[in-house]
Amino acid sequence: MLSMSQFDSKHLGSSSCIRAHKMWNKSMVLKFLRTKSSSDVLLQPTWDHIRLHHHSTVSSPFFPVLIAFCSYLSFSLPFAIIDLLGEKLPFFYRYKIQKERQPTVGLMATCLCQVVYKYVVFVIPAVVVNSFVMPSSPLHTRAPSVLELATGVLGCLLLFDFQYYLWHLVHHKNRYLYRSVHSYHHSYTAPFSWTTQHLSVVEMMTVGFWIQTNPLLLACHPLTGWTCIIIGTWMSVEGHVGYEMPWALNNIIPLGLYGGTPAHDMHHQKPHSNFAPFFSHWDKICGTAISVDRDTRLVQKGNF
Ligand SMILES: [Zn+2]
Ligand SMILES: [Zn+2]
Repeated sequence: MLSMSQFDSKHLGSSSCIRAHKMWNKSMVLKFLRTKSSSDVLLQPTWDHIRLHHHSTVSSPFFPVLIAFCSYLSFSLPFAIIDLLGEKLPFFYRYKIQKERQPTVGLMATCLCQVVYKYVVFVIPAVVVNSFVMPSSPLHTRAPSVLELATGVLGCLLLFDFQYYLWHLVHHKNRYLYRSVHSYHHSYTAPFSWTTQHLSVVEMMTVGFWIQTNPLLLACHPLTGWTCIIIGTWMSVEGHVGYEMPWALNNIIPLGLYGGTPAHDMHHQKPHSNFAPFFSHWDKICGTAISVDRDTRLVQKGNF
């Protein structure tokens, strides 16, 4: 095959040569633009492996529930151990927010058993019914790009944050709704990791419905939906652990955009504030934000 320079010298005059060069350059640029960047195909091998080797597992309507429950267990367990060892682990204990309130083994076991009971008696039957109403669609062959996954997860989390903020606010303002639906979650004024999913049946179903439908609403890839469940569960558990670690999301995400552990811990102490589960913008906009001064532990309104 002739190289471009050989082709030019043998068959073209000078003007034809320039024209050919321009065409060649243009085709190369178009080819380059059509070439996928590495971040576009980074997840394809993982997705192909999941699709080809674990198809029946990930296609099951129970798979999102399994991810949610396993994430809850695995994220909560280390903090339960830290709580039980208490002052024997001074490295962690110094970050505990309500040091005077330490959960016992009995308290943790009761809380976890109630969560498991609700999964077995309510969530699993609801998934069975839902699988008849909304059968799962075939899996995509294409994986999402890293950018699609990141924006999809952020979109789902922001949407959930808004939905839960409104729901939460209404359930605190309305005495009947608070008593019959949400007060169950406020059984503990000093939350610990297992209390993350210590929710009434109605609240658990509502949260589960949003987690299931938000990725569909935003047309997200299934991989994005599952990632969102894992990250969302981590964020929820972190909000309930009762320890404000230096690496907690509220200390990493800048400009006070994220409420996190101190904000939600304060909500369990002062239930008429900090209604957003993750981010802080809705509480700031609506004037429902309360923060804790980290040095004096004094309650301050509206300035975190
Ligand atoms: Zn809570
Ligand atoms: Zn509440």
